[in-house]
Amino acid sequence: MANRRVIVAGNWKLNKTAAETRSTIMSLRNKLAGVDTRAEVVVFPPFVSLETAVDAARETTVRVGAQNVYWEKSGAFTGEVSAEMLEALGLDYVLLGHSERRAMFGETDETVSRRLAAVLEGRLTPVVCVGEVLQERESGATADVLKRQVEGALKDVAPDHVGRIVVAYEPVWAIGTGKTASPEIANEAHTLIRNTIAVMFGRSAADETSILYGGSVKPENTAALMAESELDGVLVGGASLDAASFAGIVRAAG
Ligand code: PEP
Repeated sequence: MANRRVIVAGNWKLNKTAAETRSTIMSLRNKLAGVDTRAEVVVFPPFVSLETAVDAARETTVRVGAQNVYWEKSGAFTGEVSAEMLEALGLDYVLLGHSERRAMFGETDETVSRRLAAVLEGRLTPVVCVGEVLQERESGATADVLKRQVEGALKDVAPDHVGRIVVAYEPVWAIGTGKTASPEIANEAHTLIRNTIAVMFGRSAADETSILYGGSVKPENTAALMAESELDGVLVGGASLDAASFAGIVRAAG
């Protein structure tokens, strides 16, 4: 198996003030002290808590990312932040195209592609989220949807930048519903995503791309998911808000 990065990431969404962010990260660092893990642990707090998160995570192995970024560098774009601003805060990661942004805030494959291009100009690691809704799965459209989303997001990526991209497969029907994809379903979707990347950029680039699974991941289902050959980590929503449960997921990821 290729030597891919293993990542356990927590998407905090619209949760936690700066003070709560600090106490959660402090608690996480205590719970992870002495835990021998191959995984890179990343948290994605809301924008206003990012500076506090970086400070609280200093001198630990915990990394910090933002939940979104705009593609322009500066100018008249009220409410937006640039990749350069996020880098200046000391972040390492940024989420792109989360299904909640696609469903509620007008995100499309085209806007994900523009954000990705801006991020790849700098040094942040982008985590590009893709995934089908229930009706698409039930109608047998999953493969087409994943192919379209991956091709759409990565269409302008230069071959020498592909290695920096992390993809997260997050079936929308599994997000926040308690219905985790079975390890087999997740592995099949990851294989489809990897094959799409292979067609676009070659097999070795695809084999080096880390693909995370997200959707109702908990400490109890992590080990079975991570046992699948095509899963390189997990992106966790609800269960990442509590330090004990998130640390349990890190431990279960091995
Ligand atoms: C997510 O929103 O990225 C997610 C995976 O959420 P949850 O773990 O709560 O399903």
